[in-house]
Amino acid sequence: MPNFSTGSPPQGGAEAARRAALAPGGGWGRGALDDSRETPLGTMAGKRAAFEPEFVATVEETGKLARAERYELQAVLRGLLFENRRIRGCLLYRRDTASSVDIRRSSLSGLGYYSGLQTCGRGALCPCCGSKIAEHNRREIQAALDVWRGKGGVAGLLTFTMPHYRSQRLSDNLSAILAAYRELDRNRPYRRLCKAVGLQHTIRALEVTWGRLNGFHPHLHILGFFSDRFVADDFAGELAQLWLANLERQGVAMKDRDAVLARGVRVDVGVKVGAQYLSKVGRSWGLAEEVAKANRKRGRVDNYSPVDLLRHVRDSTLPEAGAVFREYAAAADGRHFLRWSAHMRRDLGLLPEKSDEEVAAGVDQLDPFLARLDAPTWRAVRFGGQRARVRLLELAEQDEDSALAYVAHLVGRYAESAGVGGAS
Ligand SMILES: [Zn+2]
Repeated sequence: MPNFSTGSPPQGGAEAARRAALAPGGGWGRGALDDSRETPLGTMAGKRAAFEPEFVATVEETGKLARAERYELQAVLRGLLFENRRIRGCLLYRRDTASSVDIRRSSLSGLGYYSGLQTCGRGALCPCCGSKIAEHNRREIQAALDVWRGKGGVAGLLTFTMPHYRSQRLSDNLSAILAAYRELDRNRPYRRLCKAVGLQHTIRALEVTWGRLNGFHPHLHILGFFSDRFVADDFAGELAQLWLANLERQGVAMKDRDAVLARGVRVDVGVKVGAQYLSKVGRSWGLAEEVAKANRKRGRVDNYSPVDLLRHVRDSTLPEAGAVFREYAAAADGRHFLRWSAHMRRDLGLLPEKSDEEVAAGVDQLDPFLARLDAPTWRAVRFGGQRARVRLLELAEQDEDSALAYVAHLVGRYAESAGVGGAS
């Protein structure tokens, strides 16, 4: 059994990013889709996705490594945003004084998790809640895509970007891009265009990355549900005209209007190959992942996702990462990162939407129960730090005796330290 409790996951991505941190690039960095820009549809099979794990491991090992890292990064987040009570208490303190802390095994991932603890539900900030929320969203979006494809529809990804410069504040740019899209969505010409190309429903996902050269790069991924009548013609070109007009109406600084027309909107509509739709997004990273997990993937050269920033704070590899993350947190908190268009869920037969807080706090009562920790025991486990909490989950997944022995060890260590503290 490999030891997952020590060390960090391989840092190839961070190292590569660090080396290239100051490489020249434009203010239009598009993140993960950039390098497939010129790739013909359906030829991605041999191409390695930019955010593929950089180590060889079984699915189970990858899951455990990812969880260990989430806990590590959550500890980093807690340090950065200590003033935020909900983030400070997330997965650390009991939900209320009456609740015990349970360890259950997720029937979806096979991994153990704690229930009965507070959760912050800040999907855009917290690595732990964010992972759960993103996976929930991915499954819902996948279900919607399946229903849609069953009806013979086509899915596609529209990406809206805006010019951005290092001197700009993220909160201003976020407000501008969201308002520009909201207004676009209400525009009559846009509505007419949607009708003409058979665009019937959309899921709007907000993604924010940051680069040293051009600062924050907010952009929108719109997962479009098109009827099978979809005809591209000059859809992207017309869309770009409308987008430019809406950005200008929001007062977005525009040094190069032609660049906005050329690169402000990107359209990737799935192409049916046999029974499957292929997109430029690649084989293993489908449309649902692209939209639901946008803020979680590993960024590329001088293009860091929020999770990347936390990694850099942890590794002390990017001096400004902490301050940049704090600005991101202040601007992003309270915004809707994912929005389904009106009536869409009902039309596709999906259940009413859950809030991020509900998803983060949710426990599947069918998940097998592995252990129960009373309040004093949990205090001792908590005292062991995030590595002890992760280690206990790993042991509980493995066998009960090892988990019990580890808990006894943690309780002993806690009692010892309390004794020392009491004597001094
Ligand atoms: Zn959280």
